Amino acid sequence: MTAAAFPRVTGAELRRVAAAFATGVCVVTAQDAALGPHGMTVNAFTTLSLDPPTVLLCLNRASTTRGVLAGAPYFAVNVLRAGQAPLARRFATRSNGKFDGIGWHRTARDVPVLDGALALLECEPAESFDVHTHSVLVGNVLSAAVDEGSPLLFHRGRMIGEAGAAR
Ligand SMILES: Cc1cc2nc3c(=O)[nH]c(=O)nc-3n(C[C@H](O)[C@H](O)[C@H](O)COP(=O)(O)OP(=O)(O)OC[C@H]3O[C@@H](n4cnc5c(N)ncnc54)[C@H](O)[C@@H]3O)c2cc1C
Repeated sequence: MTAAAFPRVTGAELRRVAAAFATGVCVVTAQDAALGPHGMTVNAFTTLSLDPPTVLLCLNRASTTRGVLAGAPYFAVNVLRAGQAPLARRFATRSNGKFDGIGWHRTARDVPVLDGALALLECEPAESFDVHTHSVLVGNVLSAAVDEGSPLLFHRGRMIGEAGAAR
């Protein structure tokens, strides 16, 4: 069979089909010497291994946050809870003021993290490699905490859990 007999799907087709795969929603955050606290909304997040505890993120190479994370000693994965869709939208915009007017604090490692997240992982960048438009960032997990409650979900381009109480 030739490649022409089995043409590849387009990016738009993959996006439409992949949208059927429901995910949680995270905001990945880090401190930058010039920009200050910085972060972006991510759903391309997964556990890579438990021993050692390792996670993986896929970040657009053009995004400011990818560069911030690459240069930071630590970063955090803030798993959003139901009701935190406004935070997901805020951190999916192109802005340097994403932390203005919201609840956040610094961890002992000086990582900026969001108040009221469902779960929090503090990580150190372990390795990163580029694939096409994105960088795959692997992080060693240094600390992990989880709260009671329901997650914010992302499915077919919509946030599910909007009505839940944000904390
Ligand atoms: C539910 C949800 C899940 C998401 N999951 C992911 C994810 O897993 N991975 C991911 O990478 N993004 C994801 N995004 C998108 C991401 O949150 C946004 O792109 C966000 O604005 C990035 O913030 P930033 O400050 O790092 O990017 P900015 O630097 O503000 O850039 C935002 C985007 O603009 C484009 N851009 C910026 N500079 C340039 C340039 N010079 N040339 C061309 N294009 C440019 C890039 O696409 C970049 O990602 C998700 C968004 C949503 C709503």
